[in-house]
Amino acid sequence: MNATNERTIFDIKLDNGIDILIKNGCIIDGTGNPSYHADISIIKDKIVLVTKDSHYINAARVIDATDKIVCPGFIDAHSHTDSTIFLNPTAESTVRQGITTEIVGHCGMSVAPITEEAKSKGSGGFGSFKGVDIPPCSFGQFLELMEKMGTSINIAWLLGHNTVRSVAGVSGSTVSLEQYKKMEVVVQEAMEAGAIGFSTGLEFEPGRSATMEEIIRLTKVMGKYGGIYTSHIRNRDFLIQDAIEEFIEVVRGCDVKGQVSHLNIRHNTGAPEGAWQKAVMTIEAARAEGLDILTDFTPLRYGIGQMSAILPKWLRKNGTLEASKMLLDHSVRSRLRADCDRYWRFIHRGEWDRVRMQSNPAYPELNGKTFIQISQNWNRDPWDCYFDILAAAGSEMDSIVLVALLFTEEHCREGISHPLFMLNVDGYSTRIDGPLAEQTRYPLHYMGMVHFLTYHVREKKTLRLEEAIRKMTSMPANPGY
Ligand SMILES: [Zn+2]
Repeated sequence: MNATNERTIFDIKLDNGIDILIKNGCIIDGTGNPSYHADISIIKDKIVLVTKDSHYINAARVIDATDKIVCPGFIDAHSHTDSTIFLNPTAESTVRQGITTEIVGHCGMSVAPITEEAKSKGSGGFGSFKGVDIPPCSFGQFLELMEKMGTSINIAWLLGHNTVRSVAGVSGSTVSLEQYKKMEVVVQEAMEAGAIGFSTGLEFEPGRSATMEEIIRLTKVMGKYGGIYTSHIRNRDFLIQDAIEEFIEVVRGCDVKGQVSHLNIRHNTGAPEGAWQKAVMTIEAARAEGLDILTDFTPLRYGIGQMSAILPKWLRKNGTLEASKMLLDHSVRSRLRADCDRYWRFIHRGEWDRVRMQSNPAYPELNGKTFIQISQNWNRDPWDCYFDILAAAGSEMDSIVLVALLFTEEHCREGISHPLFMLNVDGYSTRIDGPLAEQTRYPLHYMGMVHFLTYHVREKKTLRLEEAIRKMTSMPANPGY
């Protein structure tokens, strides 16, 4: 018994037995160090001992992990699950990928806070899903609602800049002192309520009209609470370098930690040769200067995106409902064909086979179809199909989500294997039944993390398994969060 008494960790004695013993597993601890075989003792929710010799330990429950890997739960540090969690608190599509924690509210879009007016203009998370009906609430009230509901996964919440602008009634680049005051109060309230940081989505309205001065001003308020600044940066094609430098200036100017969201370049959208490498080197130089900046990559060559994001500001200046009416006008459509060269710029280049409908409850027959197929089905030009679908959505046009073939295989490889890139899904938790099933038909939401492991690690050998797990666990757990 004396020998047993000596085997303690965290001052917990094992004499009285433990709750769970995970035996014979191959442990990958998330540090990137090589795997090893050992047994794990757990009391309540704490690992109390990792040992190669557990024969003396008396456990209430023994889990045999022979031929299995035992590792920390994955952290998806770029998720939009705040949009769907109300309809899906068990989040099985997420849990079954091994994800136990999600960081949500990215790309400038958080579901809270929300006002009746902002709601009517389509503000909210990434995609407004039918069946999700969040009452007008502050960020703090929203977190209380979540607490009451309970979720199977741990969720950490970012405040979205687009959401802040929407509730403060700000659009365009000019912001009055009163509007600044309103936005600063929203940021302060959210941080005091428990937000972990502030996200921008500078390719989307209304955030894309914001000046750097505005972003710095709001990020400084957030920074007082020690949060992180994450950004879907302004441009990732011919102006990517400017966008990265803007990001770094915000992080430096506000003295905060930063995460460049999904730093990738969409194939054939005008980025100069070597632009991605230069952007990554710029981040490395900023880190060498002492700034705490990381970035992330998604698992598939495909990605999800907002259908309305290619529209120019002039169309949206009176809101989405007005824009949807203007879309019915043929002269407006002709102008748009020339003036939609932004965001997924391959659409403007006529590469319609790269773009497909994720799912659209208004046209369920189009789910998963490319715009070439939609054009054939409707016997209309792809541009007209695109505008018809947006026009039909009215004020909810920002909620339509597309899927596109974005990256080359080689680009995925260079991003996923780079040491500064975390591995994230960039999707949202969903279900195979109920209202969400009709609106989120895309495999990514079920298999993002698994794909990193089965395809990029096992099949393509792009990176070691231990390194992939580091990028899904300790990397998002420590710096910046
Ligand atoms: Zn994004």
